[in-house]
Amino acid sequence: MTAQIEREFDVIVIGAGAVGENVADRVVRGGLTAVLIEAELVGGECSYWACMPSKALLRPGTALHGAQRVPGAQEAVTRTLDPAAVLKRRDYFTSNWQDDSQVKWVEDTGIELIRGHGWITAPRQVEVAGLDGNGYALTARHAVVVATGSAPNQPPVEGLHDVEYWTTREATSARAVPARLAVLGGGVAGVELAQAYARLGSSVTLVARGGLLGVFPEQAADLVAAGLRADGVDLRLHTGTRSVHENDDGSLTVVLDGSPKDGPGAGPAAGAAPGATVTADKLLVSTGRHPALEGLGLDSVGLAAPEGGTLRLTTDSTGLVHHATENDVSGSPWLYAAGDAAGRAMLTHQGKYGARATGDAIAARAKGELSGEPAPWSRFAQTAYEHAVPNVVFTDPELANVGRTMAQAEKDGFRASAVELPIQVAGSSLHAEHYEGWAQLVIDEDRKVLLGATFAGPDVAELLHAATIAVVGEVPLDRLWHAVPSYPTISEVWLRLLEEYGL
Ligand SMILES: Cc1cc2nc3c(=O)[nH]c(=O)nc-3n(C[C@H](O)[C@H](O)[C@H](O)COP(=O)(O)OP(=O)(O)OC[C@H]3O[C@@H](n4cnc5c(N)ncnc54)[C@H](O)[C@@H]3O)c2cc1C
Repeated sequence: MTAQIEREFDVIVIGAGAVGENVADRVVRGGLTAVLIEAELVGGECSYWACMPSKALLRPGTALHGAQRVPGAQEAVTRTLDPAAVLKRRDYFTSNWQDDSQVKWVEDTGIELIRGHGWITAPRQVEVAGLDGNGYALTARHAVVVATGSAPNQPPVEGLHDVEYWTTREATSARAVPARLAVLGGGVAGVELAQAYARLGSSVTLVARGGLLGVFPEQAADLVAAGLRADGVDLRLHTGTRSVHENDDGSLTVVLDGSPKDGPGAGPAAGAAPGATVTADKLLVSTGRHPALEGLGLDSVGLAAPEGGTLRLTTDSTGLVHHATENDVSGSPWLYAAGDAAGRAMLTHQGKYGARATGDAIAARAKGELSGEPAPWSRFAQTAYEHAVPNVVFTDPELANVGRTMAQAEKDGFRASAVELPIQVAGSSLHAEHYEGWAQLVIDEDRKVLLGATFAGPDVAELLHAATIAVVGEVPLDRLWHAVPSYPTISEVWLRLLEEYGL
């Protein structure tokens, strides 16, 4: 039996990924009622098909290689990774793709959950085709939040539509390790999954139109490229893909459109002759993502894609969507976007940070405690998006970056300088035999504060938060000098970098 159910809430959040959950949590803490609409699993991409499973696939290989780099421990490593045990641990971290524990958290937090597909029909109005067969007509007294995440891009490769290929979802939830894996895309997800599968025993070829990890400094990306090659990954960089087809035995052949060039990450294995092919049992297409805004009814409130383009939402520092108030007779703000759907840095921690600010801003506006846009660095403003987005590539070696690279600082008009060094300190030599790492600080020459930092090397991810604090806190360099790194840790590289700068 189906019914049309009408309900009213203070806040409607479409999408119960990590970001939607955090928005709802904050508005409930602020004394409002909230409903989460979720079409798939509560917890979203990160919990089941992204961060958690990909890191669970990578971590055993990093632990094993860590031991192999330390004499005394390396002698004890007598076997290779056990793929079945790795996949089993991955299943544990995805809760076997069951969301019961997250549903319990939603209920315990006092948030209502409606399972189904939701879309906006008018200002403050949302309809849901419930998975229980019911239809829901919902009204938001204060706000509707779009937290619908992102969807994978499909590159224009001839034949791709006609074959079955992996997106990151299939790669992170695979039940078996393919003998041969081809990866299209040299971004974070493609690189991480290429290494994970290489270490699990696949013969991996990675094809990228540009260099590897193009947004990061070249020296750091080169170290990751060397790590992948050491694991046997065949890197075909600066190489286009012309077409894909399936063979009689079910394998897939990728026809390359190569134009070998020098460039970041280029090397002996870079590029490919035009017409060269790669044949694999599985093909992972990991060529970026875009905000998932299709089918959300945003055109009903005047937000349509430009002719021939795709719809992108722009928001103020609280996550309020620009122009959405024009369609509301009350004239008060009501439509927000958060996380991947908002189209900025597509990272869980950053999306959750934005979600906390958005939830608090909605509650404060509802109580009349906030009007207009808050000051930068206020608890309602997502200022860190402009200055200090931390990003870790969980390969071995790791790559960790926060804030601006030198190229970004120059593009943004800063008078910037950079200091950079190989990581060669007592802590790193103790950490592993032949430790190879690289670190860079980007400095604002006018204010003498950090604009950004990058570290590459085994186990550098934990160095990143110190840099994030320095960038967010705009700590003057002559004060940073007094932040003494412990001996013997890899963090000693901070001291070396400041000395290199002239302190
Ligand atoms: C392979 C991979 C690895 C990653 N690793 C990391 C990492 O290590 N660290 C990190 O910080 N980030 C990582 N990311 C990025 C991270 O996964 C995303 O930034 C994060 O999941 C975004 O959260 P979200 O809540 O905005 O979106 P999502 O998690 O995608 O959640 C959106 C939810 O909305 C639901 N939904 C969509 N439309 C509707 C609708 N109309 N009605 C109802 N429900 C709807 C979806 O079903 C989904 O559950 C990774 C991404 C990938 C692909």
